[in-house]
Amino acid sequence: MATIARPSDATDSRTWDGAHADLIEHLRTLIRIPSVNPPPADGDGELLAAQAVAAMLADAGIPSEIVEPTPGRGSVAARVRGDGTGGGPLLLLSHLDVVPAPPERWTHDPFGADVSDGYVWGRGAVDMKGMVAMEVGVLRRLAAEALAAGRDPADDPIPGLTRDILFVCSADEEAGGQAGAGWIVEHRPELLQASGALNECGGVSVDFASHRFYPIGVAEKGYVAYRIVVHGTWGHGSMPRADNAAVRAAAIVTRLTEPGPTRLVPAMARFFAAVADEIGGATGDLVRRIASPDGDESEAAIAAACIDEMYGRAVRALLRDTASPNVIKAGVKYNVIPGVAEIEVDCRTLPGTDEAAMTAELRRRIGEPLLAHCEIEPFLSAPAVEAPHDTDLYRILEATLRDHDRSGVPVPVLAPFATDAKHLARLGVPTYGFSPLRLETGERFLERFHGVDERVGLDALRFGLPVLYDVVRRYCG
Ligand SMILES: [Zn+2]
Repeated sequence: MATIARPSDATDSRTWDGAHADLIEHLRTLIRIPSVNPPPADGDGELLAAQAVAAMLADAGIPSEIVEPTPGRGSVAARVRGDGTGGGPLLLLSHLDVVPAPPERWTHDPFGADVSDGYVWGRGAVDMKGMVAMEVGVLRRLAAEALAAGRDPADDPIPGLTRDILFVCSADEEAGGQAGAGWIVEHRPELLQASGALNECGGVSVDFASHRFYPIGVAEKGYVAYRIVVHGTWGHGSMPRADNAAVRAAAIVTRLTEPGPTRLVPAMARFFAAVADEIGGATGDLVRRIASPDGDESEAAIAAACIDEMYGRAVRALLRDTASPNVIKAGVKYNVIPGVAEIEVDCRTLPGTDEAAMTAELRRRIGEPLLAHCEIEPFLSAPAVEAPHDTDLYRILEATLRDHDRSGVPVPVLAPFATDAKHLARLGVPTYGFSPLRLETGERFLERFHGVDERVGLDALRFGLPVLYDVVRRYCG
């Protein structure tokens, strides 16, 4: 059988082990910098993290630039050169900020970066300093190859590279990116303008029905956040009334949580077809029924497939426009009937659902007569984004995963949440969720995002580093 040439095989495994050891130390350095978003007053965690990444690149001879639209909110950008004959650049996009981590329920210091039981522990280990360290590791390896060939990685093309590689590690992703990728798109688009981009949320193995899949992000849902003001009649708590605004708000909240109709978008149609074909048999048929346009049949199949509820929630969210009422405010005093209440609803939209369609769906769910007693105002929104799956870059992502894990099956997938890909879409850059990690069977990876005891496996990173290197070499070679 012919062996498939993997560019990473040109480097001996001792060198890769050394690069992996460096990656782990870089990840630990980044975890120990609490680049929490929202930052505390005068907080400069993102800037310190950007400076740390710049130092890791400089140590390998790669210059970089830090942009800081407001004090402390630093993003770092670099360009590694190819000879330009292969087309536009590949962008490696990541973010430096992390969500807060109250330490009470953690078994390790969230900013201690302990290495224990085969994992690096800490906030940002998976979202997404692990990927930052992996990208830095790939760039450092390429720089080392340039130096070995007598070239200066700061100015000269890397041997064999025909496209430039752009690297942007941004601030503020966790709060919408206006002080990070959003600002760069508006003010420094040349740092991001590429033929294709790799971003978080994809390429991580998932075990299901004794098969191992690697969902690659090809699309992500949009969002619309609404404020619903509910009107009632003020009164004395001793004489209850049906037009109590809090009572009406409660009824509205109940109606909003109705699951709503399912709709299979192209990315999910391909996802279910690929998973069903791979598994085959009765379980494969169940997977096909999850994709049914009949919501009841879909729900029954989710239950029958015994999907871990963690994935069940994700699957349900990927089949429909969702509405989650997350803030409810009403009342001024225990004995005063409130005349007004307010609900904030987080709606996540499938590709093809715009803000007007989402608003119409909310109105349908609320229905008369409640609709006559409320105003529905969107206050934040962004459309869904989709990247084509028939591109060279996507094919390289699939092929490279297969080359590194013969029994793994890459599948395209829609992400239920939003990332900085929203900003990149404004520049027309096709963006794929791809941060390759091979997990241990049964690891509850989705729960680690923003969760307690966030951690990433040493072996998972050892798998991912040469995968990412090969993707870069193949697309840019
Ligand atoms: Zn993230």
